[in-house]
Amino acid sequence: MNNKIKVGKIIEVNFPNKNKVETENNNLNIKGGILGQIVEVKQSRGKKGKLLKVLEKSSLEKLQGCIHTECGGCSYDTLIYEDEVKYKKEMLKKLFEEAGFNFDFNLIGNSHYKSYRNKMEYTFGDEYKGSPIALGLHKKNKFYEIENTTHCQIVHQDFNKIRFFTRDFFDQEEFYNRRTHEGVLRHLVIRRTNFGEILINLVTTKNHTLDLKSYTEGLLKLDTEAKIVGITNTLNDSYSDAIVNEGFEVLYGRDYCVEELLGLKFKIGPFSFFQTNSYSAETLYKLAQKLIGNIENKNVLDLYSGTGTITQIMAQKANTAVGVEIVESAVKDAWENAKLNNIENVEFIADDVLKALDNLDFVADVIVLDPPREGIHPKALEKILSREPEEILYISCNPVSFVRDLEKIKEEGYEVKKICGLDQFPRTNHVETVVLMSRK
Ligand code: SAH
Repeated sequence: MNNKIKVGKIIEVNFPNKNKVETENNNLNIKGGILGQIVEVKQSRGKKGKLLKVLEKSSLEKLQGCIHTECGGCSYDTLIYEDEVKYKKEMLKKLFEEAGFNFDFNLIGNSHYKSYRNKMEYTFGDEYKGSPIALGLHKKNKFYEIENTTHCQIVHQDFNKIRFFTRDFFDQEEFYNRRTHEGVLRHLVIRRTNFGEILINLVTTKNHTLDLKSYTEGLLKLDTEAKIVGITNTLNDSYSDAIVNEGFEVLYGRDYCVEELLGLKFKIGPFSFFQTNSYSAETLYKLAQKLIGNIENKNVLDLYSGTGTITQIMAQKANTAVGVEIVESAVKDAWENAKLNNIENVEFIADDVLKALDNLDFVADVIVLDPPREGIHPKALEKILSREPEEILYISCNPVSFVRDLEKIKEEGYEVKKICGLDQFPRTNHVETVVLMSRK
């Protein structure tokens, strides 16, 4: 056996699924796996290792799990859901404790732990070198290879139908190769709302000769439960792996879909952020309202506001609410949504939080923070804290960046009043935390 290949047991797990394997002569740090599994790892540099395969399941794994064992999407699909919630809570507790916080908190599970995602971004590629064209998610620990996620469990069957049809339809076409920059098909983004609408966005390079008329006709003939309200084609020649809108065409219907949450309607365009689990988003927003308590007569500043969901929910109870968001199309959606919902005491600013705070003369009693995974830019955090709001409600989809920011917020004289975890993303290794802090 190659002397870099080792066998060992996963003896320690850390959020977000960064684990320790005990092998015969040393411990290695790997990404992935479940506590108690016997695994084969390849030692790379120092104490780093790469998980190659699971040789023996953990006693925690009581379910068969999804058939897509190589897919990098889910991590805990072999656990009974209640066990997954306990497992994640333990990891979160350890993360907090290691950062010096002894919180007494609850991690709220999700009654919809299957078929819950309202958005999927599939990539075109190959499953293995020379395979037929594939469309799905990246394989675990692989940079190029794509798993055809035919039976994905965390999406509604409508997603699987549309993905299957699309892959089949483009069977003889070429995917965009990230190494050579040749080929045309890049991504397929599907949004499906609980309100019953589907928006499909096919991302290709600019100079393609694809028969998108037949593709559109084919999609519209599919027997989906929700209604396809829009099909679009985004053109993107950039080398970046992210979807960059360099040209856009509506092939059918409209360029947005509508979701309904807590009695409010939200128009969501192809490039706007929206919580990926609508069921749990309702729980999240209700939780935010509950933690923040009575905000009558107060002014709320909602930073990183996306399509203005939280801004509007807060505005219903507050004096005024202002949202700041960097994606202009999301801000446009937010203004339209407020109009749709007859909410008048709101304002939205399209800008980087870091810059917007320099020119904003709005005095906020409460600041809501819901930053992207990286957390808050340190300079932006300084500017936020210098405004000295009475309360800060920090919603985070990444507890690692959250604890980092929390240290700074505490230093500036705030204390944690209430904290709660929410399993917004069942089966995956992500969790959400919601924390209310007030100025001492
Ligand atoms: N609060 C919203 C969105 C949260 S996601 C909701 O619940 O739906 C984070 C949002 O921050 C995204 O919409 C992203 O586009 C935006 N964003 C990222 N970096 C930003 C920055 N520097 N300034 C302003 N907004 C930013």
